[in-house]
Amino acid sequence: MTRFVDTQALASLLARVGTRTFMAELAELMKSDYVRWHEFDKSARLASHSDIGVIELMPIADASQYAFKYVNGHPSNTQRGLSTVMAFGALADVDTGFPTLLSELTLSTGVRTAVASAVAAEKLARADARTMGLIGCGAQSEFQAIAFESLVGIEHVKLYDVDAAAVGKLERNLRAHTDLEVEVAASAAEAAERVDVLTTATADKAHATIVTADMLSAGLHINGVGGDCPGKTELAAEVLEAASVFVEYEPQTRIEGDIQQMPESFAVTELWSVLAGEHPGRLHHAEVTVFDSVGFALEDYSMLKLVHRYAESLNIGEQVDLVPTLDDNKDLFGLIDRQLTPVKSRTAA
Ligand code: NAD
Repeated sequence: MTRFVDTQALASLLARVGTRTFMAELAELMKSDYVRWHEFDKSARLASHSDIGVIELMPIADASQYAFKYVNGHPSNTQRGLSTVMAFGALADVDTGFPTLLSELTLSTGVRTAVASAVAAEKLARADARTMGLIGCGAQSEFQAIAFESLVGIEHVKLYDVDAAAVGKLERNLRAHTDLEVEVAASAAEAAERVDVLTTATADKAHATIVTADMLSAGLHINGVGGDCPGKTELAAEVLEAASVFVEYEPQTRIEGDIQQMPESFAVTELWSVLAGEHPGRLHHAEVTVFDSVGFALEDYSMLKLVHRYAESLNIGEQVDLVPTLDDNKDLFGLIDRQLTPVKSRTAA
């Protein structure tokens, strides 16, 4: 049977384990998976674009487990009563192809994206970083703030969004569930003033320039989360030129990240090489660093593994008959046969 974890089941799993404990464990697992970089069969995700959004498939495998995620990105969805980002995915056994887990990945994406950002910031932000500007106060933002508080040591956040209601929602949630000092900024530029880290998590299918060169300060680390699709950026080209830029999987980020604006010759460093100690990460106190996050399949693989482990040990979710378990595996038709009245007995009746 396949373990099925829906959104409510994942929410209860996180509540029982504790979001911070889960994030800390995920960070360790993700780092150990990133360090095994060469063991993975990797590819840039497969995207289907429309004028207003994108739907993507993200596969990855090592010698024992295969994972994939289905995810969309539709910035106008919130006006239709839907989330901008919605996802689900599966984990399967490589030896047999048997799917061991089918899981929601929308809430999971919030958790894993924030943990990936924090894992990168641990190496790329200054060790004494305590303040963070957070531009874009939508679905991802609480997870980003909590991961940076728990895993990076951020104590003070400055929030900005074009939607005042989104700022109010984030402010309330952070005051209720964190020890962060929360400040509301009047503009993106104000959110970037006197901060050590600047996180951008805005959604707009446009070549936006949320961060411009005049907003940079010596030693700033930018955690760019929302520029993650062709034609969808947040950082001005001059910001990238002024910084050392780190990416998840270069072939994918060249297409989807903020560096889509830059020529192929523009140098970037893959995060795994920093985590594996092959690249030093931040070189000096005054360096401006950018994590050009787009989200990579390996992060979902780590997330699915941890969700599976906890769902099994705490018996969360349910066992479903996703693929057949048969007495005679060559008699697939038998599944239907058992539901039907045989033609001969119908004739007899
Ligand atoms: P969301 O729609 O819930 O929130 C986005 C917020 O950005 C909204 O509150 C909106 O008002 C705000 N915004 C839009 N334009 C802005 C601007 N110019 N200045 C300030 N605020 C602005 O979306 P979400 O789920 O929070 O996702 C945020 C972004 O992160 C999206 O672009 C999404 O595609 C991306 N994302 C990236 C990853 C990754 O791994 N890198 C993972 C998940 C989501």
